[in-house]
Amino acid sequence: MDKRFPITGFSSLAIHSGHETDPRYSHLVPVYATSTYVFDDAEQGMRRFSGQEPGYIYSRWGNPTFTEAEEKIAAMETFGTSVQVKAILHSSGMAAISSMMLSILKSGDKVLSHYSLYGGTQELLNRVLPPLNMEGIIADLRDLNKAEDILKKDPAIKLLYLETPANPTIQCVDIEELCKLARKYGKIVACDNTFATPYLQQPFRYGADFVMHSTTKFLNGHGTAIGGVWLGKDIEFMNGHGTKVHRILGGNANPFDAFLLINGMKTLEVRMDRHCHNAMEVAGFLESHAAVARVHYNGLPDHPDHSVAMKQMRHPGAMMSIELKGGLQSGIRMMNNLKLCTRTVSLGTCDTLLCHPASMTHYGVPKEQREQFGITDGLIRMSIGMENVQDILSDLDQALN
Ligand code: PLP
Repeated sequence: MDKRFPITGFSSLAIHSGHETDPRYSHLVPVYATSTYVFDDAEQGMRRFSGQEPGYIYSRWGNPTFTEAEEKIAAMETFGTSVQVKAILHSSGMAAISSMMLSILKSGDKVLSHYSLYGGTQELLNRVLPPLNMEGIIADLRDLNKAEDILKKDPAIKLLYLETPANPTIQCVDIEELCKLARKYGKIVACDNTFATPYLQQPFRYGADFVMHSTTKFLNGHGTAIGGVWLGKDIEFMNGHGTKVHRILGGNANPFDAFLLINGMKTLEVRMDRHCHNAMEVAGFLESHAAVARVHYNGLPDHPDHSVAMKQMRHPGAMMSIELKGGLQSGIRMMNNLKLCTRTVSLGTCDTLLCHPASMTHYGVPKEQREQFGITDGLIRMSIGMENVQDILSDLDQALN
């Protein structure tokens, strides 16, 4: 693509951005399966190490296949805005979140987060940070007065950590209002955008400082690789201390996974449109199903976070959770009766996936804490796929009956 071409649509950007013409005329970026890069002479090696000359040195530090993925994600997260960001690809979403936290927090600092979070992130706050004398505080950040009260009273809070929509309750917090509060009290805001993807929601637009993804999910889209990305708008920080922390902690991606991610991201818009269309149909169907007690899907007008979701998202997305009238036993029966949809953890693949957070993704989170967040024993999380929607509905109906 000629870089001067004025791209106007998200899908054109997702397909073309980040791609450099290959010196050997390969249509797609090659999988640069190399650990290291050669220097013409010792002086060039010295110039590369000192940063006087750009160029790759060692693949834990950077790799041309990673670069294409990084530039594509950065372009998507800032599409239609004047924000500039730097993206660093990681081996997983958790590696990206860990790099972000460990690069900005120091002993004595606290992280304030919403009380429904991905189980791994919750465990990072519960288990990994406390021995380093860092503390996670959880609160219902949908209550802005409460959020302000906590931020005002506790100067040790350094980071406001958001995940919206949140895993697995699909609760949404208001990114723009929370960013305003964070600015007022001098806090940093990081937002996990995994459930939404940049096609549906762009946290930088609302003032976030950092955005993270588990690229394992909708960005890859096909369940073929684990990956993560950390993006930040303070380019100097990202190129300096942020890059240093990433390189030292060693959570680098691998070139084949980056290649799979690049190809997946090219179809993000068409995939998300189909995922979201199917999700709306499924939510409507389940809402009126006799076996279902509650559907948590913020696309439904009576969902408590519907207006926040519609304010900041193009569409409420493809994730939902349900509670069955018979609780845990009905949930197990339904999961075992599935014939088309897949029983598995993770999300964001072409097929519809169902999992049971209490016994799977949130197994490591204490029961009292889980239930306080709304993750009851009978909750089933669904990632709605791209199958023909009638087939999804038929399978869910027969499994529920
Ligand atoms: N963030 C969210 C919202 C997730 O759902 C997950 C995983 O399910 C992660 C982060 C962690 O991602 P990964 O498994 O790629 O480390």
